[in-house]
Amino acid sequence: MTKIIDGKAISATIKAEVAAEVQQMIEAGKQAPGLAVVLVGENKASQVYVSMKKKACEKAGIYSREIQLPETVTMNELLTEVKKLNDDSQIHGILVQLPLPSHIDEQEVLNHIDPRKDVDGFHPINVGNLSLKIDGFVPCTPLGVMEMLKRSNIEIQGKNALVLGRSNIVGKPMAMLLTNAHATVTIAHSKTRDLAEQIGRADILVAAIGRPEFVKGEWIKEGAVVVDVGINSIDDPNSAKGYRLVGDVEYESAAAKAAHITPVPGGVGPMTIAMLLSNTLKAKKKYYNS
Ligand code: NDP
Repeated sequence: MTKIIDGKAISATIKAEVAAEVQQMIEAGKQAPGLAVVLVGENKASQVYVSMKKKACEKAGIYSREIQLPETVTMNELLTEVKKLNDDSQIHGILVQLPLPSHIDEQEVLNHIDPRKDVDGFHPINVGNLSLKIDGFVPCTPLGVMEMLKRSNIEIQGKNALVLGRSNIVGKPMAMLLTNAHATVTIAHSKTRDLAEQIGRADILVAAIGRPEFVKGEWIKEGAVVVDVGINSIDDPNSAKGYRLVGDVEYESAAAKAAHITPVPGGVGPMTIAMLLSNTLKAKKKYYNS
């Protein structure tokens, strides 16, 4: 029978573990971890994500600060804000909410975050650390996927894994994490030929392409582990909201083949914030343990 991996429940456990550790820290007279989230412009989805992150911090006892900057902010102004946060002793984690307006060089901004506060794991030093298997910060979504697999007792070593998507945020770090965990990893993308055939060989499939229900159940290997990172909104006149969220995988047909599968919503989505809290606590403990 297919086992549904409940990301909501796993993320609740992780959040509770983080909250307990933060509580202990505070009781020991230490400073609480602090997270700064920089939000540029009026992107509705970004505003929702930032407010969810803020609420999750509050619940875990993590100090949080939101820095709101106008859409018209200049590169220099933004870098000045980042530098201030780098020097701020109340802040141990810095997150710049992406995407940034097109006149801003996104990577350049990320490059200016102190790698010790880079809880999103996008700084080149942390990208390098992951590749070298040095302990640093790993992007929250792929880190969350690994945590889900671990806590569901899914064996990775020796398995054929296929990561669908090669973004810096999900696909590439995901492939590196699976490689470090001794899977044999294939990375597929929009130029990949014979995708269905490649997917058919995967014991573990991680789909992260942002294409609603693109992966068909018939492509999936019998007994595979299917992790659906995609979050896509599609029109649904039957839903009160007029839309519903679906993943990159056709859920029903994939669930019929898979041994384990993550649903959308309630799968990988909730894990990302849990790992952000966990990374912020880690930053405090690893680099600012006072
Ligand atoms: P990007 O748009 O940055 O990358 C998409 C990747 O998918 C690219 O590598 C692209 O290939 C590949 N791709 C696109 N279309 C196809 C196709 N038809 N066949 C094969 N490969 C394809 O997306 P992200 O990595 O940022 O996000 C992916 C999905 O994950 C989105 O739905 C996003 O909403 C979701 N997401 C969910 C998170 C969560 O918290 N659960 C967090 C982050 C993202 P190429 O490189 O060749 O262009």
